[in-house]
Amino acid sequence: MKTKIRKIDSKNPQKEIIEEAAAVLRAGGLVAFPTETVYGLGGNALDAKASEKIYAAKGRPSDNPLIVHIARMEDLEKIVLEVPEKAKILAAAYWPGPLTMILPKSAAVPYETTGGLESVAVRYPSHPVARDLILASGGFIAAPSANTSGRPSPTTAAHVEEDLTGAVDMILDGGQVGIGIESTIVDFTEDVPTVLRPGYISLEMLREQLGEVRMDRGLLKNDGSQHPKAPGMKYRHYAPKAELTIVEGKTDQVVNYINERAREAAGRGKQIGIIGTSETVPYYPKGLVRCIGSREDEASIALHLYEVLRDFDQYDVESIYSEAFDTPKMGQAIMNRLLKAAGHRVIRVEE
Ligand code: AMP
Ligand code: MG
Repeated sequence: MKTKIRKIDSKNPQKEIIEEAAAVLRAGGLVAFPTETVYGLGGNALDAKASEKIYAAKGRPSDNPLIVHIARMEDLEKIVLEVPEKAKILAAAYWPGPLTMILPKSAAVPYETTGGLESVAVRYPSHPVARDLILASGGFIAAPSANTSGRPSPTTAAHVEEDLTGAVDMILDGGQVGIGIESTIVDFTEDVPTVLRPGYISLEMLREQLGEVRMDRGLLKNDGSQHPKAPGMKYRHYAPKAELTIVEGKTDQVVNYINERAREAAGRGKQIGIIGTSETVPYYPKGLVRCIGSREDEASIALHLYEVLRDFDQYDVESIYSEAFDTPKMGQAIMNRLLKAAGHRVIRVEE
């Protein structure tokens, strides 16, 4: 398959480009497009065959359901059986935006889209390209992140091209995304709303609106005793090719520990990758050092996380060491992705 790449204005998407992409979707094809979180790999959510194509293009396990994207509030009731009061409150507060809600699915949504589940994940994105494309294509786009399964999610069209050239009909290049990590997923099929995946919308922001909100126990425990409820959260994910280890502790001790690893590798004629921040990068004299952002600006850390992980794949690094980033709002989301990328390898350095 030849993949067409079209540049599109992310603030004022050109109508003719949207129409060209929408025609591909209406005909059952696949289009990758920017959203405010990461790039999505879109197909018609109500077309079982299109969903099957998405799984094939990503190499995604078929039990890992897709998120259905809408762009009009009134379309929600067409794909779910009921909308609980609390879901309405969250929609009013955070839609359009980086929030996904799990609700009981209606007969309109094929099991191919929900990975066989009776529930469906729904999001109403705010990105103008996503919004216009959803409306022009008929209202319902199933779109997982536009990466090969297991690789870091794409935050630029170049990342999508790396993974999906030849596997999708079209890529809309709207530049770099705004947030850089995937949406917060809240499950409304339990008695108490439960976070299945942390994201930009933090637990505090959810509790402000709803009162009691739980974290999925499978996310909090790393010992394998409890599986995360979102099928996709159990897979190794976001992982660079070289083994990644997170180093926790006081900053100067973390830097010392990583520098020792760098010296030790250099002594053997090898190189390690290092993920630091603008505050620490000057203190790493050896190794392939990448700056993820500033500790004073957690949005910059979220935005560059996947780009940095992808970047190491182009170089010959023996292993990668990262500092930990427990920042105030998105820290949970950032560390959730980093821990998965590291396969939960964490070293704590103490005095
Ligand atoms: P992605 O499409 O890459 O952003 O991943 C979507 C995430 O949503 C995966 O972790 C899925 O397992 C999860 N998900 C989608 N639909 C459901 C559902 N009905 N119930 C639970 N988790 C879901
Ligand atoms: Mg994904």
